Amino acid sequence: MKALVYNGPHDVAVADVADARIEQPNDVLVKVTATNICGSDLHMYEGRTDFEEGRVLGHENVGEVIEVGAGIDKVAVGDMVSVPFNVSCGHCRNCEHGLTSYCLAANVEGMAGGAYGFADMGGWIGGQAEYLRVPWGDFQCLRLPEDAREKQNDYVMLSDIFPTGWHAVEMSGLKAGESIVIYGAGPVGLMAALSASVKGALKVMVVDRHPDRLRLAEQIGAIAIDDSKGDPVEQVMEHTKGVGADRGAECVGYQAHDPQGNEDNAATLNKLVSSVRFTGGIGTVGVFIPEDPGAPDELAQQGKARFDFGNFWFKGQQMGNGQAPVKRYNRHLRDLIAAEKVTPSWIVSHNLPLAEAPKAYEHFDAREDGWTKVVLNPA
Ligand SMILES: [Zn+2]
Ligand SMILES: [Zn+2]
Repeated sequence: MKALVYNGPHDVAVADVADARIEQPNDVLVKVTATNICGSDLHMYEGRTDFEEGRVLGHENVGEVIEVGAGIDKVAVGDMVSVPFNVSCGHCRNCEHGLTSYCLAANVEGMAGGAYGFADMGGWIGGQAEYLRVPWGDFQCLRLPEDAREKQNDYVMLSDIFPTGWHAVEMSGLKAGESIVIYGAGPVGLMAALSASVKGALKVMVVDRHPDRLRLAEQIGAIAIDDSKGDPVEQVMEHTKGVGADRGAECVGYQAHDPQGNEDNAATLNKLVSSVRFTGGIGTVGVFIPEDPGAPDELAQQGKARFDFGNFWFKGQQMGNGQAPVKRYNRHLRDLIAAEKVTPSWIVSHNLPLAEAPKAYEHFDAREDGWTKVVLNPA
């Protein structure tokens, strides 16, 4: 089958690889009809992880079931399904408690959490390919309604970014009528903004510096804060009568940098602590990693950050962090899409065939104007 293969930093290519196939009785084989390029793919694309050369990327997948293993009894051939980026078994201690992002059976011994086409997440083959093997298929596949193909650009957001944005807001503790500031207007930040408004936020502020992204935030009623035009903390204070936002969300991750490009992995965390009120809450879904050999300084290379813990403690804030357990949210988010209460596809800028994926990575990685979210359509 054709798949997008990682050959090294800034080098991906469409190549012939071994066909995905049924290997275990509980496997489901999916013909991939839509698969997104994600901001977290860029950490791997840029060589800022230990992602192995020759591996296939892609963890935001939707497709049609074309074959099922002998142990599958719910999912059927012909179903259109959303596949959560978390590979999870459904029966380990963490899965039983809904913590599918920390499944104990989907990674190597001593590690928790699996994902398709991702560094350090169990070695699963990604879905930026013609076909995808889905283990524990009955547990993992979320069946989509009859409008699955028509609204594919909406449903494809269910495998990662919509639940991840929702999780950031959930962890922040937002209640209806409260304000929230979201750092990062990439796809996840925009989904966090959408989630906050669905959850009844009084005021949603989104910090970024790319005009195309900020425009998308404004299109759903958020306040755009351009951090290249002034201190974002001061701007948040102006919008909140000097008190700070009730809640905050980190949707940037460890490659955070200022408008001039100087990297500081604690930059957004510290700005959040300053932007959020005393006793407020923060949800951190931007990716942080235990080791980052490509980081500009020694501390960051060890995965450590100059986090302003003093201010955080003094303000009595709370923070939740980590990868989203997609299955906790994807069913009701699917139903919101089906009922036309939300249309997360408003961020999609490109639908492209798999063959154009290498070019798309270049444009998206360069944060080129107008490349806000790329959906690949291999089938
Ligand atoms: Zn993703
Ligand atoms: Zn599990």
